[in-house]
Amino acid sequence: MTHAKTRSWIQRCVFLVLACAVVLVGAKLVEKAQSYAGTEGSYLPGTYTAQANGFGGPVEVTVTVGDKGGIENVDIQGGSETPDVGGAAMPLLTKKILSAQSADIDGVSGATFTSNAVKEAATKALTLASGGAVDEGPRPEGDDLFVPGTYTGVSKGFGGDVTVTVTLSGKAIEDVKIEGGHETENIGSFAVEMLGAEVMAAQSPKIDALTGATVTSNAIFRALNDALTQAGADLSRLPDAHRSDEGAERTSETLETDIVIIGAGGAGMTAAINATQAGKSVILLEKMPYVGGNTTKATGGMNAAETHYQKEQGIEDTVEQFVEDTMKGGHDINNRDLVTVMAENSAAAIDWLDSIGAPLPKVSFSGGATNKRIHAPEDGSGVGAYLVTAFRRTLDELGVNVMYETTATELIMENGAIAGVKAQGRTVDYTIRAKAVILATGGFGNNEDMIVQYRPDLKGTVTTSAPGITGDGIVMAQAVGADLVDIEQIQLHPTVEQGTSMLITESVRGDGAILVNQEGKRFVNELLTRDVVSAAELEQTGSYAYIIFDQHLRDGLKAIEKYVSTGITVQADTIEGLAELIDVDPATLAQTLADWNRYVAEKNDPDFGRESGMDADLSQAPYYAIKIAPGIHHTMGGVRIDTATQVLDAEGNAIPGLFAAGEVTGGVHGGNRIGGNAVADIVVFGKIAAESAVAWCDR
Ligand code: ADP
Repeated sequence: MTHAKTRSWIQRCVFLVLACAVVLVGAKLVEKAQSYAGTEGSYLPGTYTAQANGFGGPVEVTVTVGDKGGIENVDIQGGSETPDVGGAAMPLLTKKILSAQSADIDGVSGATFTSNAVKEAATKALTLASGGAVDEGPRPEGDDLFVPGTYTGVSKGFGGDVTVTVTLSGKAIEDVKIEGGHETENIGSFAVEMLGAEVMAAQSPKIDALTGATVTSNAIFRALNDALTQAGADLSRLPDAHRSDEGAERTSETLETDIVIIGAGGAGMTAAINATQAGKSVILLEKMPYVGGNTTKATGGMNAAETHYQKEQGIEDTVEQFVEDTMKGGHDINNRDLVTVMAENSAAAIDWLDSIGAPLPKVSFSGGATNKRIHAPEDGSGVGAYLVTAFRRTLDELGVNVMYETTATELIMENGAIAGVKAQGRTVDYTIRAKAVILATGGFGNNEDMIVQYRPDLKGTVTTSAPGITGDGIVMAQAVGADLVDIEQIQLHPTVEQGTSMLITESVRGDGAILVNQEGKRFVNELLTRDVVSAAELEQTGSYAYIIFDQHLRDGLKAIEKYVSTGITVQADTIEGLAELIDVDPATLAQTLADWNRYVAEKNDPDFGRESGMDADLSQAPYYAIKIAPGIHHTMGGVRIDTATQVLDAEGNAIPGLFAAGEVTGGVHGGNRIGGNAVADIVVFGKIAAESAVAWCDR
């Protein structure tokens, strides 16, 4: 039998089983539905109605109590609920209340809002049915929408609580303050930043979630609805401001500029700033509603050699050693010319970051580097979010035209040279004529089809890539004849929590954490390159491992707070207690930790030869574990470029007017990217791409 036939046969069987189940469950429901007449209970006979705020407006529950005091009928009306979520949950909730004869029921998963509203309204109705009184809360006066005042709602976001405080007059939302300090900087934090203004503009909580930040957006909506409900708002009276482009008329526009840059990640923003500073007009296209791409997620730092920071700190390092380390880390298949340019220009790139107010003075060791070379922000914050914030500020100061939610779809070629870009905004189709185009669209880590096309073995692997990282630049470049290099070289990061795709930064191991398998034993030198550690994990029971650390390590590393507040860590006061939580044999784990702490004291790891990340042992309770496995992290391959970032065709000829920088390109990292080189790549080559494009415009 072919695969296709097998699949279709399985699909039919599954369908039949489901159909039978639906019929059986349906029959059961009918049978039960008929059996509530005459139910005995302690309520007062009669019909009781109460309301509560659901997702889109009030939900009304009417309970009918029969002569014998039992609930005989429940009617739920909630016209504004999302039909396929909340709406679909209502019959189930009706059944649950009838069978429990109470409002104390479990909600329907996936329809939390509606479930809570139904439970609240049913509780009120049953309070009335018990002879009690219901406090309907404040009611706005006359045709007011709100009882004026300041109200606060709280809800759980991606990294902890999100708090929304609204100040209301009778008829208007006067102010919205959203606090979500734990949300991921430059991802969830954008939702925290942007949605408040949108709520104010719409005068309603019924607006769209921010793409790529749905968890944070929904937490904000929940907290906001809660605050508005406290003010007596009837949410159904507030305007529906969800944006729908469906049926909207599309228009066409032609724009003109010197340089179009596609993608506002680290490489694109660096290029845009440099090209603008060189006096060129620039349009920066970004398909998401915010900048940053994968750059936002870079947690470590930026590799650079012979920098003034290294010199000031007495660190000896050379450009040549940087090149050799990068080649070795990349299994020697990197393009040595590109690597040399990156290393030679890295110190100047650090100076340039100084000049835009983004210094990286903290220099330390990182996996694969001979010398202390990775440069990070002073306060220990993640380098990516830090740089993205600085790049955004500089773009603003320079007044660069960043077109958000505008996706480049095609490169325009005329007479054998690049002449511009076609792009799609929400309702406008753009033709942007330009003298030069810089591709900075990032990699393809979030395009499963492309991953499978080049690496079928990685099907189903989780990714740490941002939602916009779908290989568009690679596809567009190929369409105009660009050659690809090392496209099958995809890096797995060894420490990715699988439920959230959250990357556990290398610094956790760098600061002293160990990895153990389900048997409670170490299995690798945790600080070998990412490919080696990932491969070792895949050989363990279940293809996963636990990263183990202690309170001392947590105290010294800010990043860990997010892991804890997201709920992906487990912790215990003893190693044995921790072992029990992760189902590992307690005696074995205790022995592993005792051995490890001795190796740290002796600065010698006889088991796996680890030599770094051994400054502190793991002996301060509480102890922590996070279950991790490899995740797709970086696509090392991409379009072929030369050292001036010109995109090359299969014959090695430059495609006139087309440049590329960052993860969209291949060759810099070879078969394995070492930590700290992604940021070096985007800043160095983003800058060179701008210089080359400017020179091309001036030729
Ligand atoms: P790099 O690290 O190379 O700078 P990033 O992943 O940081 O790459 O950023 C790439 C950016 O490009 C992301 O913000 C992504 O949303 C954007 N992008 C990807 N494809 C397109 C496209 N077709 N049009 C506009 N922007 C795009």
